[in-house]
Amino acid sequence: MPAPALPAFDVCVVGYGPVGATLANLLADCGLSVLVLEREAEIYLLPRAVHFDDEVMRLFQTLGLAERILPHTHVSPGMRFVDAGGRLILDWSRSPDVGPLGWHVSYRFHQPDLERILRDAAAARPAIDVRLRAEVFALDQDDDGVDIRYEDVAGGALCRARARYVVGCDGARSLVRRLIGDSLEDLGFHERWLVVDAILGRDLPTLGDYSVQYCDPARPATYVRGVGRRRRWEIALRPDEDPAAMTAPAGTWRLLERFISRDDAELERAACYTFHSAIARRWRDRRLLIAGDSAHQTPPFLGQGLCAGIRDVANLAWKLARAVKTGGDDALLDSYQSERAPHVRAYIELAVRLGGLINTRAAEAAVPGGLTRSEPARMESIKPQLGPGLSAGAADLRGQLAPQPLLADHVRLDDHVGYRFAALLDPNFLAGLPDALRRELTLKNVDVVADPALQPWLADNRVSAVVVRPDRYVLGSAKTIGDMDALAAAI
Ligand SMILES: Cc1cc2nc3c(=O)[nH]c(=O)nc-3n(C[C@H](O)[C@H](O)[C@H](O)COP(=O)(O)OP(=O)(O)OC[C@H]3O[C@@H](n4cnc5c(N)ncnc54)[C@H](O)[C@@H]3O)c2cc1C
Repeated sequence: MPAPALPAFDVCVVGYGPVGATLANLLADCGLSVLVLEREAEIYLLPRAVHFDDEVMRLFQTLGLAERILPHTHVSPGMRFVDAGGRLILDWSRSPDVGPLGWHVSYRFHQPDLERILRDAAAARPAIDVRLRAEVFALDQDDDGVDIRYEDVAGGALCRARARYVVGCDGARSLVRRLIGDSLEDLGFHERWLVVDAILGRDLPTLGDYSVQYCDPARPATYVRGVGRRRRWEIALRPDEDPAAMTAPAGTWRLLERFISRDDAELERAACYTFHSAIARRWRDRRLLIAGDSAHQTPPFLGQGLCAGIRDVANLAWKLARAVKTGGDDALLDSYQSERAPHVRAYIELAVRLGGLINTRAAEAAVPGGLTRSEPARMESIKPQLGPGLSAGAADLRGQLAPQPLLADHVRLDDHVGYRFAALLDPNFLAGLPDALRRELTLKNVDVVADPALQPWLADNRVSAVVVRPDRYVLGSAKTIGDMDALAAAI
């Protein structure tokens, strides 16, 4: 008798952290069936991310979740770096206004709140099948798909499933990364820090809304204002300090009393982490891929670890959907790593340099121009370009994020487009577009938008049209109908 067919899915996502949950939602919105396997029964409760940026909020908007997430956020005015004497040495203020991506550039949040919303969204998408307490231990790929073996940890049963592709969103100790056969490139930062969340018993305005980096070689530390009365401190540990003793209330308070008194707040949770900086050398082996912390890790000084993982899956989901629907496309899937790896590397390297500044060991290297000026140095957020990958038409703006203006009908650009390609055109250019080209764009499900709100951006960049991918990065631009032909052919 033939063996019974295994339950088969388009994609299996290993790991239901924020990156896996976001990927599952995106893939379902692309029309794929998704199996999520997660070892743990509950959302991870120890203190982790507290900040995400405008690009990440934009992706949550794409999933229809921005309005649900907003009430759980607090817009951040920025970050200040002070030396051991309290002198301001570096100012990274953020604009209080909504930025060109359509959102504020910095939000504070509580990671378990975000994960709950992402999981609720996945539960509402019938194409997603989530199995908790399911630990993956083997993946065997062949020409058509991947055999997945996992343990139902609750009952001890060994189970199997099959998927066309498997994406490891399985965190820093990723099994999928190891099965891909990868080693991590070490970017040099490894430090043990105590991370504490406390809930204030009363308002303490003196703590302020700005995050503060205490660049004190004797005891580097970070303060972050959370949502409501939650406040975060991250404090460097010395090599001789025992993590268990420091996460116990007495040890934690010994370090925290420099900032608040025991009467001011209740300790909510404390954990000791070794912050690493590393990037995987190989993000894909045929049908196996990795995303999020399994592909890269960063010290948290820029608040970009989770953000980078969300960018990974925004880049990957539409490519995977195409690969599933067309039976595979190696060049497209390989562009995932070639585009994402240099992008995330830019963030990790900056975070490591800031780590040097916080330890005041490498201040000159961390801040362009050094810290010798009497005025504090100023810092701007970075928005790196994608690494080499997909490209067509004219190269202007390629790999950069497209802005998100409010269109003439008061709809935000991304709400108009959804998670698909868009051609953003100057209205005059649209008027001259040949019918065949218009038909090709429609056939390829490209949203053609020729709105006056886009004109200033197109004019500033001296282009007549831009094709934007579902992840909001520019594929290429057009100055001529010939460029536009090339762009349409590449979609
Ligand atoms: C102190 C601290 C502060 C931070 N601050 C920020 C910040 O402000 N902003 C920011 O953007 N980032 C920040 N980060 C980073 C952020 O928290 C992580 O990048 C993010 O949680 C990674 O998400 P992930 O989904 O990739 O991995 P994880 O959240 O680690 O999820 C991986 C999941 O995979 C599961 N799993 C693993 N192996 C298996 C298996 N074999 N089978 C089934 N399931 C498996 C695990 O149980 C886990 O649930 C911070 C991190 C720390 C520690």
